[in-house]
Formats: sequence, C-alpha cells, structure tokens
Amino acid sequence: MATAFYPGSFDPMTNGHLDVLVQAMKLVERLVVAIGTHPGKTPLFSFEERAELIQASLAEVLPARAGDLEVVSFSDLTIHAARRHGASIMLRGLRDGTDLDYEMQLAGMNATMAPDIQTIFLPAATASRPITATLVRQIAAMGGDVGPFVPAPVLAALNSRYGR
Ligand code: ADP
Repeated sequence: MATAFYPGSFDPMTNGHLDVLVQAMKLVERLVVAIGTHPGKTPLFSFEERAELIQASLAEVLPARAGDLEVVSFSDLTIHAARRHGASIMLRGLRDGTDLDYEMQLAGMNATMAPDIQTIFLPAATASRPITATLVRQIAAMGGDVGPFVPAPVLAALNSRYGR
C-alpha cells in the first residue's frame, strides 16, 4: 500500500495543486499533503484554514477518495517528515524548466539522504501550468477575479477574506 507525501505551502491551494493531487490519487492508495510552516513567515491562511480548503477541494472533485487524503504540517526536513508519515514516495508538480532545474537538485540530494524515498514528478496540466499561489494571492488582494485559478472553496475563502 503506497503512501505519497506532497509537500508545499498551499497558501492557498490552486487548480494546479488540485490537478497534481487528483493525478496522484490514481497512483497511490494514500496521500499526505504536507504544509510547510516557517517561523517568522506569516501566511495568508492559517494551517487549519489551508488544510480545510485542501480537503474541501478534493471532496468536490473526487468524493470517493476523500478518506485517503490526510493534511499535516511540518517544519523539518521533508524526507524526515515523509518517513514519519510512512510515505515511500515524494510527490512534486512540474510547471516548467525553472521548476525542473530546482526540483532535480532537490530530488538528487533527497535521494542521497533518503534512498528509501522515491521522488515522482507529475507534469502540470496545460490549463494550470501558469498558476502560482503567490500570484493568486496578489491578484485577489488587488480585487482581481481568481475564479479561473482556484477551486470553488478557495475562491469563497478569498472573497470573504477580502470582503467580497
Ligand atoms: P507555489 O509555488 O504555487 O507557492 P507550493 O510551494 O505550495 O506552490 O508548491 C507545492 C508543489 O506544488 C510543488 O511541487 C510545485 O511544483 C507544485 N505546484 C505548484 N503550482 C503548480 C501548478 N500550477 N501545477 C502543477 N504543480 C504545481
């Protein structure tokens, strides 16, 4: 029974993250989405809010698999956190060549430190390739419509955060 560990900030979850999650659910029995928390860095949404939005977004598109998803927080090395949660797969999404260069370095160093954990890259879907959570936050803060970039529960949370 394979468990995959999908680390990131997810502040907030976007259609890109969701696409990776849905693709991954076809490959593994259990998926742990791991929200990295950094002291001194204030996120837009709290860990609890981000976790709730991830669960709600998956439940909308893949209700039958909602029980196979766990959302956790971590602040240590991803390989240590992955092991702690019983994962043998490290999952990363790839948007472009910039992601690839960085992710190859990360995957290489992680493989040396943790040969028991296999990194798997999943390509971004064409429609979600340009989406980044950073731009979603900036556009939403300035009153833009981020509806095309995020799942419905996230859109509702952003609208309520910005009083719309
Ligand atoms: P962001 O870079 O958008 O802030 P994260 O740090 O939360 O996102 O990224 C977590 C993981 O999700 C990384 O593997 C990243 O490559 C992947 N990811 C982020 N956005 C997308 C997207 N639009 N399509 C596919 N994968 C993505």
